[in-house]
Amino acid sequence: MSQFDFDLFVIGAGSGGVRAARTAAALGKKVAVAEGRFLGGTCVNIGCVPKKLFSYGSHFHEEFAQAAGFGWSVSHSDFDWPTLRDNKTKEIERLNGVYHNLLVNSGVRLIEGYAHFESAHEVSVNGTTYSAEKILIATGSEPFMPEFPGNEYAVSSDAVFYLDEFPKRALVLGGGYIAVEFAGIFHGLGAESHLVYRGDQPLKGFDEEVRQFASEEMQKKGVQFHLNTNIASVEKQASGLLVTLTDGETLEVDLVLCATGRVPKTEGLELDAAGIKQGKGGKVLVNDEFQTSAPSVFALGDVINRMQLTPVALAEAMVFVNNQFQPDLPAKQMDYTNIPTAVFCHPNIATVGMSEEEAREAFDRIEVYSAGFRPMKHTLSGSDERHLMKLVVDADSRKVVGAHMVGTDAGEVMQGIAVAIKAGATKEIFDSTVGIHPTGAEEFVTMRTVSRN
Ligand code: NDP
Repeated sequence: MSQFDFDLFVIGAGSGGVRAARTAAALGKKVAVAEGRFLGGTCVNIGCVPKKLFSYGSHFHEEFAQAAGFGWSVSHSDFDWPTLRDNKTKEIERLNGVYHNLLVNSGVRLIEGYAHFESAHEVSVNGTTYSAEKILIATGSEPFMPEFPGNEYAVSSDAVFYLDEFPKRALVLGGGYIAVEFAGIFHGLGAESHLVYRGDQPLKGFDEEVRQFASEEMQKKGVQFHLNTNIASVEKQASGLLVTLTDGETLEVDLVLCATGRVPKTEGLELDAAGIKQGKGGKVLVNDEFQTSAPSVFALGDVINRMQLTPVALAEAMVFVNNQFQPDLPAKQMDYTNIPTAVFCHPNIATVGMSEEEAREAFDRIEVYSAGFRPMKHTLSGSDERHLMKLVVDADSRKVVGAHMVGTDAGEVMQGIAVAIKAGATKEIFDSTVGIHPTGAEEFVTMRTVSRN
């Protein structure tokens, strides 16, 4: 009989926490999860899932416009924000139920409330103390809101999913994933859309050609870019929000969304009570085993701030459970290389492996294969949207070390390419793969001419 109430106590029922809890429970461990807000965390409730639903919604106006070239007449189209918002909310509620059943059916005890540490083996929720052999912090992250006069009139991505009214004019501050995605969503749903970014091109860290190409496509569609500037102040006026930028420009909008990064969520956890150390920006410090400075306490997902992506948190949870609760299996290490990702801006971006710039640093000789083209659909649709496909090759080993795409459903295409890159496929293997015709994706196996070395 264990001296503890639980083998594992998980704080936070987001992607990483739920995965760890139910996988450990499936191994016969006694597991509890404390959650004070909603089941499924940021991804399900105020992140990936509702964002993708909005993103789907925001593509229809283009489809209506493009239908005429294919013989359709779409005489009238109107967008109703409450319908999209509320249908989305119903779907999220359904998913909350799915998460509840997943946990409870796998034998996890769900404790509703916020937990804080009393010691390295004890947490308290709603005044009750629970002991556990191991405790996992999976509390995620929350939006960072920059300081400027009037920032109380700005919203974060937490609020944007529940707006009472859809803005006629929206301004998004930032140049990361959330900023470019919402700039596209606002524009696609009919708002005048402004992107304000302090750098000279959004999506820092992505392949430079991809950044340039995607920025041009977004601007062609009508998103208004304001680069090398920031918000100086926001004033509330009768007719809207008056935004003054640091370069002196002024804009009147109805909504300001700050998409300026996310910070680890540790407030109220009382980490000191367990001797848990934090690093830069408040991230919980862990070793390769996701173990904190308190040996019985572990952490993973956004709260450790390695890669703020749901599938990364899921993979970290699997490594954690394998190493802590399956002593008969070989120990695993989380592999952070070649993690594919997609940005659901318009058109979508997807990427896996190295950018051209990273490959130039890493290898003596590289080959870059890059093709920008008008997709077949747009020969009739009338749209001037262009797509980009790009492969980066280490010329000595012949391995494809990076793949990048800007275009429709880029994430759907890139998932398969990521398997090939993870398996170490060479350019010759890509070349010997028969294409699927006619698709845009076949470009990845038909690019034969080196664009540059
Ligand atoms: P990001 O870290 O991607 O981008 C933050 C942006 O805000 C950067 O452009 C940054 O500028 C800018 N910024 C930071 N501080 C300030 C400031 N004080 N004033 C003005 N601009 C500022 O964060 P996001 O909020 O977009 O997203 C958070 C994370 O969520 C992402 O990193 C990603 O991992 C994840 N996510 C993933 C998605 C996906 O997979 N599709 C979708 C949405 C989010 P600079 O570039 O100069 O640093």
